[in-house]
Amino acid sequence: MNFPGIDNLVQPHLAQITPYQAGKPLEELAREMGLTDAIKLASNENPLGPSPLALAAIQDNLHTLHRYPDSHAYYLKEDLSRHLGLSPSQLILGNGSDEILDLLIRALVPLGGEVLSTDHTFLMYSLLTQAVGGVFRFVPLKEMRVDLPGLARAVTAQTRLIFINNPNNPTGTAFLRQEWEEFLASVPPHLTVVLDEAYIDFADDPRVPQSLAYVAEDRLLVGLRTFSKAYGLAGLRIGYGFGPSKLMDYLNRLRLPFNVNRLAQVAARAALTDTLFLERTLKVVRSGRAMICRELERLGLSYLPSQANFILIQVDRPAREVYEAMLKEGVIIRSMEEYGFSHHIRVNVGLPEENQRFVRALTKVLGLKG
Ligand SMILES: *Cc1c(COP(=O)(O)O)cnc(C)c1O
Repeated sequence: MNFPGIDNLVQPHLAQITPYQAGKPLEELAREMGLTDAIKLASNENPLGPSPLALAAIQDNLHTLHRYPDSHAYYLKEDLSRHLGLSPSQLILGNGSDEILDLLIRALVPLGGEVLSTDHTFLMYSLLTQAVGGVFRFVPLKEMRVDLPGLARAVTAQTRLIFINNPNNPTGTAFLRQEWEEFLASVPPHLTVVLDEAYIDFADDPRVPQSLAYVAEDRLLVGLRTFSKAYGLAGLRIGYGFGPSKLMDYLNRLRLPFNVNRLAQVAARAALTDTLFLERTLKVVRSGRAMICRELERLGLSYLPSQANFILIQVDRPAREVYEAMLKEGVIIRSMEEYGFSHHIRVNVGLPEENQRFVRALTKVLGLKG
Protein backbone atom coordinates (compact mmCIF):
# COMPACT_ATOMS: atom_id res chain seq x y z
CA MET A 1 0.00 0.00 0.00
CA ASN A 2 1.55 3.30 -0.99
CA PHE A 3 -0.97 5.81 0.36
CA PRO A 4 -0.27 7.81 3.55
CA GLY A 5 -1.38 5.99 6.70
CA ILE A 6 -5.09 6.25 7.43
CA ASP A 7 -4.20 7.79 10.81
CA ASN A 8 -2.95 10.86 8.97
CA LEU A 9 -6.00 11.14 6.77
CA VAL A 10 -8.85 11.15 9.29
CA GLN A 11 -9.69 14.14 11.46
CA PRO A 12 -7.23 14.13 14.39
CA HIS A 13 -9.90 14.40 17.12
CA LEU A 14 -11.36 11.02 16.09
CA ALA A 15 -8.34 9.27 17.59
CA GLN A 16 -9.53 10.34 21.08
CA ILE A 17 -12.83 8.50 20.82
CA THR A 18 -13.43 5.30 22.74
CA PRO A 19 -16.21 3.43 20.96
CA TYR A 20 -19.51 3.04 22.86
CA GLN A 21 -19.76 -0.30 24.65
CA ALA A 22 -23.31 -1.56 24.33
CA GLY A 23 -24.81 -4.13 26.69
CA LYS A 24 -23.87 -7.64 25.61
CA PRO A 25 -26.53 -9.04 23.29
CA LEU A 26 -28.17 -12.25 24.51
CA GLU A 27 -27.27 -13.95 21.24
CA GLU A 28 -23.58 -13.26 21.79
CA LEU A 29 -23.56 -14.63 25.31
CA ALA A 30 -25.37 -17.75 24.20
CA ARG A 31 -22.78 -18.29 21.48
CA GLU A 32 -19.77 -17.66 23.71
CA MET A 33 -20.80 -19.60 26.76
CA GLY A 34 -23.25 -22.10 25.41
CA LEU A 35 -25.93 -20.71 27.71
CA THR A 36 -29.45 -21.14 26.48
CA ASP A 37 -31.46 -19.60 29.30
CA ALA A 38 -29.53 -16.40 29.89
CA ILE A 39 -31.37 -13.19 30.75
CA LYS A 40 -30.41 -9.66 29.81
CA LEU A 41 -30.89 -6.86 32.32
CA ALA A 42 -28.17 -4.65 30.88
CA SER A 43 -29.61 -2.12 28.44
CA ASN A 44 -32.70 -0.78 30.21
CA GLU A 45 -34.98 -2.44 27.68
CA ASN A 46 -38.66 -3.19 28.22
CA PRO A 47 -39.07 -6.61 29.88
CA LEU A 48 -42.57 -7.05 28.39
CA GLY A 49 -41.30 -6.93 24.80
CA PRO A 50 -42.59 -4.50 22.18
CA SER A 51 -46.00 -2.84 22.38
CA PRO A 52 -48.47 -5.34 20.81
CA LEU A 53 -50.23 -2.58 18.88
CA ALA A 54 -46.87 -1.51 17.44
CA LEU A 55 -46.15 -5.10 16.41
CA ALA A 56 -49.51 -5.38 14.68
CA ALA A 57 -48.88 -2.13 12.81
CA ILE A 58 -45.50 -3.43 11.65
CA GLN A 59 -47.06 -6.64 10.39
CA ASP A 60 -49.76 -4.70 8.54
CA ASN A 61 -47.14 -2.59 6.80
CA LEU A 62 -44.52 -5.16 5.83
CA HIS A 63 -45.80 -5.28 2.26
CA THR A 64 -44.93 -1.59 1.77
CA LEU A 65 -41.23 -2.02 2.41
CA HIS A 66 -40.27 -1.42 -1.23
CA ARG A 67 -41.35 2.21 -0.74
CA TYR A 68 -39.19 4.91 0.81
CA PRO A 69 -40.50 6.26 4.11
CA ASP A 70 -42.28 9.61 4.32
CA SER A 71 -39.31 11.90 4.78
CA HIS A 72 -41.34 14.30 6.93
CA ALA A 73 -43.22 11.60 8.87
CA TYR A 74 -46.33 13.69 8.42
CA TYR A 75 -48.78 11.42 10.26
CA LEU A 76 -46.49 10.57 13.13
CA LYS A 77 -45.74 14.26 13.65
CA GLU A 78 -49.46 15.04 13.61
CA ASP A 79 -50.09 12.35 16.23
CA LEU A 80 -47.17 13.44 18.37
CA SER A 81 -48.14 17.08 18.19
CA ARG A 82 -51.62 16.20 19.43
CA HIS A 83 -50.16 13.91 22.10
CA LEU A 84 -47.82 16.63 23.38
CA GLY A 85 -49.91 19.72 22.69
CA LEU A 86 -47.21 21.25 20.46
CA SER A 87 -47.12 22.25 16.83
CA PRO A 88 -45.50 19.82 14.33
CA SER A 89 -42.90 22.51 13.62
CA GLN A 90 -41.68 22.15 17.21
CA LEU A 91 -40.79 18.47 16.67
CA ILE A 92 -37.76 16.59 15.41
CA LEU A 93 -37.71 12.81 14.86
CA GLY A 94 -34.59 10.70 14.99
CA ASN A 95 -33.20 7.24 14.43
CA GLY A 96 -33.37 6.83 18.18
CA SER A 97 -32.98 9.91 20.36
CA ASP A 98 -29.23 9.25 20.02
CA GLU A 99 -29.45 10.70 16.54
CA ILE A 100 -31.06 13.89 17.85
CA LEU A 101 -28.18 14.33 20.30
CA ASP A 102 -25.87 14.10 17.32
CA LEU A 103 -27.91 16.62 15.29
CA LEU A 104 -27.92 19.08 18.19
CA ILE A 105 -24.16 18.83 18.57
CA ARG A 106 -23.49 19.14 14.86
CA ALA A 107 -25.81 22.14 14.61
CA LEU A 108 -24.51 24.02 17.62
CA VAL A 109 -20.96 23.02 18.51
CA PRO A 110 -18.08 24.39 16.43
CA LEU A 111 -14.55 22.92 16.55
CA GLY A 112 -13.34 23.67 20.08
CA GLY A 113 -16.83 24.63 21.26
CA GLU A 114 -17.81 23.43 24.68
CA VAL A 115 -20.49 20.97 25.74
CA LEU A 116 -21.32 20.86 29.41
CA SER A 117 -22.87 17.96 31.28
CA THR A 118 -22.51 16.04 34.51
CA ASP A 119 -20.03 13.35 35.48
CA HIS A 120 -21.42 9.80 35.52
CA THR A 121 -24.02 10.30 32.85
CA PHE A 122 -24.97 8.92 29.45
CA LEU A 123 -21.74 8.24 27.51
CA MET A 124 -23.13 9.40 24.18
CA TYR A 125 -22.91 13.06 25.24
CA SER A 126 -19.11 13.02 25.44
CA LEU A 127 -18.65 10.61 22.55
CA LEU A 128 -20.67 12.68 20.10
CA THR A 129 -18.97 15.88 21.28
CA GLN A 130 -15.55 14.35 20.60
CA ALA A 131 -16.76 13.29 17.17
CA VAL A 132 -17.07 16.94 16.08
CA GLY A 133 -13.89 18.10 17.82
CA GLY A 134 -15.82 19.80 20.60
CA VAL A 135 -14.67 20.00 24.20
CA PHE A 136 -16.69 18.01 26.72
CA ARG A 137 -16.68 19.32 30.27
CA PHE A 138 -18.51 17.80 33.19
CA VAL A 139 -19.54 18.85 36.66
CA PRO A 140 -19.17 16.28 39.48
CA LEU A 141 -22.27 14.81 41.09
CA LYS A 142 -23.19 16.12 44.51
CA GLU A 143 -24.15 13.37 46.94
CA MET A 144 -24.56 11.15 43.87
CA ARG A 145 -27.15 13.51 42.37
CA VAL A 146 -27.00 15.87 39.40
CA ASP A 147 -25.79 19.23 40.73
CA LEU A 148 -27.86 21.82 38.85
CA PRO A 149 -26.45 24.89 40.66
CA GLY A 150 -22.96 23.51 39.95
CA LEU A 151 -23.83 23.14 36.27
CA ALA A 152 -25.10 26.72 36.09
CA ARG A 153 -21.90 27.97 37.73
CA ALA A 154 -19.73 26.01 35.27
CA VAL A 155 -21.06 27.79 32.17
CA THR A 156 -18.36 29.73 30.28
CA ALA A 157 -18.36 31.97 27.22
CA GLN A 158 -17.43 28.90 25.15
CA THR A 159 -20.37 26.77 26.31
CA ARG A 160 -22.79 26.02 23.49
CA LEU A 161 -24.86 23.18 24.83
CA ILE A 162 -25.81 21.67 28.19
CA PHE A 163 -26.99 18.05 28.38
CA ILE A 164 -28.94 16.97 31.41
CA ASN A 165 -30.48 13.56 31.86
CA ASN A 166 -33.45 13.27 34.21
CA PRO A 167 -33.84 10.65 35.67
CA ASN A 168 -30.11 10.24 35.16
CA ASN A 169 -28.52 7.17 33.59
CA PRO A 170 -26.78 5.41 35.37
CA THR A 171 -27.60 6.82 38.84
CA GLY A 172 -31.39 6.61 38.45
CA THR A 173 -31.81 9.73 40.57
CA ALA A 174 -34.06 12.60 39.51
CA PHE A 175 -34.02 16.29 40.35
CA LEU A 176 -37.15 18.13 41.38
CA ARG A 177 -39.15 21.01 39.95
CA GLN A 178 -37.82 23.74 42.20
CA GLU A 179 -34.14 22.95 41.49
CA TRP A 180 -34.94 22.80 37.79
CA GLU A 181 -36.76 26.12 37.69
CA GLU A 182 -33.94 27.84 39.57
CA PHE A 183 -31.48 26.37 37.09
CA LEU A 184 -33.50 27.46 34.04
CA ALA A 185 -33.73 30.98 35.39
CA SER A 186 -29.97 31.15 35.88
CA VAL A 187 -28.64 29.98 32.48
CA PRO A 188 -27.90 32.65 29.87
CA PRO A 189 -30.60 32.84 27.16
CA HIS A 190 -28.21 32.14 24.23
CA LEU A 191 -27.27 28.73 25.62
CA THR A 192 -29.18 25.61 24.52
CA VAL A 193 -30.30 23.32 27.34
CA VAL A 194 -31.20 19.75 26.43
CA LEU A 195 -33.23 17.73 28.90
CA ASP A 196 -32.95 14.05 27.96
CA GLU A 197 -36.04 12.33 29.34
CA ALA A 198 -35.46 8.78 28.12
CA TYR A 199 -36.66 7.47 31.51
CA ILE A 200 -39.22 10.09 32.51
CA ASP A 201 -42.18 7.68 32.14
CA PHE A 202 -40.85 5.54 34.99
CA ALA A 203 -40.66 8.40 37.48
CA ASP A 204 -43.47 8.30 40.02
CA ASP A 205 -42.52 11.26 42.20
CA PRO A 206 -44.94 14.04 41.20
CA ARG A 207 -42.28 16.64 42.04
CA VAL A 208 -40.14 15.52 39.07
CA PRO A 209 -40.47 18.19 36.33
CA GLN A 210 -41.28 17.45 32.69
CA SER A 211 -39.53 19.43 29.97
CA LEU A 212 -42.78 19.70 28.03
CA ALA A 213 -44.11 22.23 30.53
CA TYR A 214 -41.14 24.53 29.88
CA VAL A 215 -40.77 24.38 26.09
CA ALA A 216 -41.41 27.74 24.44
CA GLU A 217 -40.64 29.45 21.14
CA ASP A 218 -38.47 32.03 22.89
CA ARG A 219 -36.43 29.62 25.01
CA LEU A 220 -33.52 27.45 23.87
CA LEU A 221 -34.75 24.34 25.65
CA VAL A 222 -35.06 20.95 23.95
CA GLY A 223 -36.82 17.94 25.48
CA LEU A 224 -35.83 14.47 24.28
CA ARG A 225 -37.94 11.32 24.47
CA THR A 226 -37.61 7.84 23.05
CA PHE A 227 -39.75 4.88 22.06
CA SER A 228 -36.86 2.59 23.09
CA LYS A 229 -37.67 2.17 26.77
CA ALA A 230 -41.27 2.50 27.93
CA TYR A 231 -42.71 1.51 24.52
CA GLY A 232 -40.36 -1.43 23.97
CA LEU A 233 -39.12 -0.42 20.51
CA ALA A 234 -35.35 -0.17 21.09
CA GLY A 235 -34.56 -2.39 18.10
CA LEU A 236 -36.57 -0.21 15.73
CA ARG A 237 -34.66 3.01 16.49
CA ILE A 238 -37.02 5.92 16.97
CA GLY A 239 -36.99 8.89 19.30
CA TYR A 240 -38.14 12.49 19.19
CA GLY A 241 -37.30 15.92 20.47
CA PHE A 242 -39.24 19.14 20.92
CA GLY A 243 -38.15 22.72 21.17
CA PRO A 244 -38.38 26.11 19.46
CA SER A 245 -39.41 25.81 15.78
CA LYS A 246 -36.42 27.74 14.48
CA LEU A 247 -33.95 25.35 16.08
CA MET A 248 -35.98 22.31 15.03
CA ASP A 249 -35.93 23.65 11.47
CA TYR A 250 -32.12 23.69 11.51
CA LEU A 251 -31.98 20.15 12.86
CA ASN A 252 -34.34 19.08 10.09
CA ARG A 253 -32.00 20.50 7.47
CA LEU A 254 -29.12 18.55 8.94
CA ARG A 255 -30.73 15.11 9.25
CA LEU A 256 -30.70 12.51 6.49
CA PRO A 257 -33.96 12.53 4.52
CA PHE A 258 -35.00 8.99 5.51
CA ASN A 259 -33.64 8.81 9.03
CA VAL A 260 -36.83 7.29 10.44
CA ASN A 261 -37.84 4.17 8.54
CA ARG A 262 -41.38 3.21 7.50
CA LEU A 263 -41.90 0.55 10.13
CA ALA A 264 -40.64 2.83 12.88
CA GLN A 265 -43.13 5.50 11.81
CA VAL A 266 -46.17 3.21 11.84
CA ALA A 267 -45.06 1.39 14.99
CA ALA A 268 -44.52 4.64 16.89
CA ARG A 269 -47.99 5.88 15.90
CA ALA A 270 -49.54 2.64 17.16
CA ALA A 271 -47.43 2.63 20.33
CA LEU A 272 -48.67 6.10 21.21
CA THR A 273 -52.23 4.73 21.34
CA ASP A 274 -51.21 1.65 23.35
CA THR A 275 -52.05 3.04 26.77
CA LEU A 276 -52.74 -0.43 28.13
CA PHE A 277 -49.19 -1.54 27.30
CA LEU A 278 -47.70 1.58 28.81
CA GLU A 279 -49.69 1.03 32.02
CA ARG A 280 -48.58 -2.61 32.23
CA THR A 281 -44.98 -1.55 31.63
CA LEU A 282 -45.05 1.07 34.37
CA LYS A 283 -46.62 -1.40 36.79
CA VAL A 284 -44.06 -4.14 36.10
CA VAL A 285 -41.16 -1.70 36.32
CA ARG A 286 -42.27 0.13 39.46
CA SER A 287 -43.22 -3.00 41.39
CA GLY A 288 -40.07 -4.81 40.21
CA ARG A 289 -37.95 -1.84 41.22
CA ALA A 290 -39.46 -1.89 44.72
CA MET A 291 -38.95 -5.66 44.98
CA ILE A 292 -35.28 -5.50 43.95
CA CYS A 293 -34.66 -2.62 46.39
CA ARG A 294 -36.23 -4.59 49.27
CA GLU A 295 -33.99 -7.55 48.47
CA LEU A 296 -30.88 -5.33 48.25
CA GLU A 297 -31.70 -3.95 51.68
CA ARG A 298 -32.16 -7.42 53.08
CA LEU A 299 -28.75 -8.35 51.65
CA GLY A 300 -27.19 -5.21 53.16
CA LEU A 301 -26.14 -3.81 49.77
CA SER A 302 -26.17 -0.10 49.13
CA TYR A 303 -27.93 1.29 46.09
CA LEU A 304 -29.39 4.57 44.93
CA PRO A 305 -33.14 5.18 45.10
CA SER A 306 -34.26 5.12 41.47
CA GLN A 307 -36.89 6.96 39.46
CA ALA A 308 -35.89 5.02 36.33
CA ASN A 309 -36.19 1.39 35.18
CA PHE A 310 -32.73 0.48 36.49
CA ILE A 311 -30.81 0.54 39.77
CA LEU A 312 -27.19 1.46 40.51
CA ILE A 313 -25.74 -0.90 43.11
CA GLN A 314 -22.47 -0.66 45.01
CA VAL A 315 -20.39 -3.83 45.27
CA ASP A 316 -17.32 -4.58 47.40
CA ARG A 317 -15.26 -5.88 44.48
CA PRO A 318 -14.26 -4.47 41.11
CA ALA A 319 -17.50 -4.22 39.15
CA ARG A 320 -15.93 -5.98 36.17
CA GLU A 321 -15.38 -9.13 38.25
CA VAL A 322 -18.96 -9.09 39.43
CA TYR A 323 -20.14 -8.61 35.84
CA GLU A 324 -18.06 -11.58 34.64
CA ALA A 325 -19.25 -13.81 37.48
CA MET A 326 -22.87 -12.83 36.80
CA LEU A 327 -22.40 -13.71 33.12
CA LYS A 328 -21.40 -17.22 34.17
CA GLU A 329 -24.70 -17.40 36.01
CA GLY A 330 -26.43 -16.40 32.78
CA VAL A 331 -27.41 -12.93 34.01
CA ILE A 332 -26.22 -10.02 31.87
CA ILE A 333 -25.92 -6.76 33.79
CA ARG A 334 -23.59 -3.80 33.30
CA SER A 335 -20.34 -3.01 35.03
CA MET A 336 -20.30 0.76 35.51
CA GLU A 337 -16.53 1.08 35.07
CA GLU A 338 -16.82 3.02 31.84
CA TYR A 339 -19.29 5.37 33.53
CA GLY A 340 -16.64 6.14 36.14
CA PHE A 341 -17.90 3.82 38.88
CA SER A 342 -15.32 1.10 39.46
CA HIS A 343 -17.37 -0.60 42.19
CA HIS A 344 -20.93 -0.24 40.93
CA ILE A 345 -23.10 -2.36 38.71
CA ARG A 346 -26.33 -1.35 36.99
CA VAL A 347 -29.25 -3.69 36.58
CA ASN A 348 -32.51 -2.93 34.86
CA VAL A 349 -35.83 -4.17 36.13
CA GLY A 350 -37.02 -7.31 34.38
CA LEU A 351 -40.01 -9.60 34.75
CA PRO A 352 -40.65 -10.77 38.34
CA GLU A 353 -38.92 -14.13 37.76
CA GLU A 354 -35.94 -12.39 36.11
CA ASN A 355 -35.61 -10.05 39.08
CA GLN A 356 -35.61 -13.02 41.43
CA ARG A 357 -32.99 -14.78 39.36
CA PHE A 358 -30.85 -11.64 39.42
CA VAL A 359 -31.09 -11.45 43.22
CA ARG A 360 -30.22 -15.16 43.60
CA ALA A 361 -27.25 -14.87 41.24
CA LEU A 362 -25.95 -11.71 42.93
CA THR A 363 -26.29 -13.33 46.37
CA LYS A 364 -24.21 -16.28 45.16
CA VAL A 365 -21.60 -14.19 43.28
CA LEU A 366 -21.01 -11.84 46.23
CA GLY A 367 -20.96 -14.74 48.68
CA LEU A 368 -23.79 -13.29 50.77
CA LYS A 369 -26.21 -15.19 52.97
CA GLY A 370 -29.47 -15.58 51.05
C1 LIG B 1 -31.60 4.77 26.31
C2 LIG B 1 -31.25 6.20 26.35
C3 LIG B 1 -31.61 7.06 25.32
C4 LIG B 1 -32.43 6.58 24.18
O1 LIG B 1 -31.69 6.14 23.15
P1 LIG B 1 -32.39 5.77 21.78
O2 LIG B 1 -31.36 6.21 20.81
O3 LIG B 1 -33.66 6.54 21.64
O4 LIG B 1 -32.60 4.30 21.82
C5 LIG B 1 -31.31 8.40 25.43
N1 LIG B 1 -30.70 8.88 26.50
C6 LIG B 1 -30.36 8.09 27.53
C7 LIG B 1 -29.75 8.69 28.72
C8 LIG B 1 -30.60 6.72 27.48
O5 LIG B 1 -30.22 5.95 28.49
